[in-house]
Amino acid sequence: MASKYQAPRGTFDVLPEQGRARSRLEGAAAAIFARAGYEPVATPSFEDTDLFVRGVGRSTDIVTKEMFTFEDKGGRSLTLRPEGTAPICRAYLEHGMHKLAQPVKLCYAGPFFRHERPQAGRYRQFHQLGIECIGTDSPLADAEAIMLLSELLGELGVPGVQLRLGSLGSLEARREYLEELKAHLRAHEGELSKEVRERIDLNPLRAFDSDDEGTRGVMTTAPTIVGRLAGEDVEHFAEVRALLDAAGIAYEIDPTLVRGLDYYTRTIFSFVCDALGAQSEVGGGGRYDGLIEQLGGPPTPAVGWAAGIERILLALDEEEESAERDAFVAIADEGQRRRAMALTTELRRAGLSAEVDLGGRGLKGQLKHADRIGARRVLILEADGSAQLRDMQSGEQRAVHTGNLIEEMTGGDS
Ligand code: AMP
Repeated sequence: MASKYQAPRGTFDVLPEQGRARSRLEGAAAAIFARAGYEPVATPSFEDTDLFVRGVGRSTDIVTKEMFTFEDKGGRSLTLRPEGTAPICRAYLEHGMHKLAQPVKLCYAGPFFRHERPQAGRYRQFHQLGIECIGTDSPLADAEAIMLLSELLGELGVPGVQLRLGSLGSLEARREYLEELKAHLRAHEGELSKEVRERIDLNPLRAFDSDDEGTRGVMTTAPTIVGRLAGEDVEHFAEVRALLDAAGIAYEIDPTLVRGLDYYTRTIFSFVCDALGAQSEVGGGGRYDGLIEQLGGPPTPAVGWAAGIERILLALDEEEESAERDAFVAIADEGQRRRAMALTTELRRAGLSAEVDLGGRGLKGQLKHADRIGARRVLILEADGSAQLRDMQSGEQRAVHTGNLIEEMTGGDS
């Protein structure tokens, strides 16, 4: 029965077959974050528009083109969050987390919104999970962040992942470099795409991301920031690399790597998976030492990343998982209904997945249903109070005592 309504353009429904893989992914991430001491937090789905304009950057694609911005009934300009870092920094300041022992290590997962042109792996509502480590400039924090994303992708079995690594230097170093880059772009203005030409002053770094042929030519001879790093920026970057080397994490230095948000300083990184095609990044992030100050707080160095849940699932390209249950409790007679409910609860409390017929089916119908939902065993409660346990794979059936049901169910398990 098709409804006349459809999910809005660029959005999607998560159906049960997909929900299972998604839960597994979120569970794996939560376990990895917990083991490393990252505490889960959540922020609202919308914030003051100005938080993103200031935080993400006035000249970025996100702010200029992609935000879902609206006015509420009180005349405030609000925006559905396009990313998670600025809101977490806002919360860090609002709740005085700078007074806690530093660094504060946080993790999150949830929906984000960007008004982009939808295509495979790019949606208007998508989901990210990520971490933020706030209050330290130690290269160890950069390395730990990268290692955790690497571990997650490894544990999930995302194939063909490559890590690209770069450094944007500190804010001061970047300022000098940007002047040099602008001069290079101006000297080749005629060869640049219209979009890049119009944004030489606003956002020259994005020229590295252009797929326009002329612009790409100009960028092959452009100065790179990695080649201009000096002093502590060089040492910091070298230490991050040494830590990754020591951890056995392979990476490729990409001097042309840039990210779509303005707040990054020093380390930036991107995990890509070629199997994904055009939208090949599964996750990425970097250091943002100036953001909290930019939002009105004290100077507070920080590093973090976000990974796209849909991108990871696409890269895994798993067969949709079929359902599986440990048990189904069937009744041969209506009189057994309450007992069935009690036994199902008992099984669930013991940690087994168990279902009971909610559809008022006859015994034959219940067995068919149990098979359909992937129940491995069916407990059949007979009218006389006796019980049979049926193995759905072998078809074998034997009498059991429901008094020691859990033992009956978990003993003899293969
Ligand atoms: P960003 O916040 O832009 O650094 O992106 C971090 C990650 O979020 C990317 O690596 C993608 O995996 C994912 N992502 C970003 N934008 C989208 C989108 N429109 N649709 C789906 N995933 C996205």
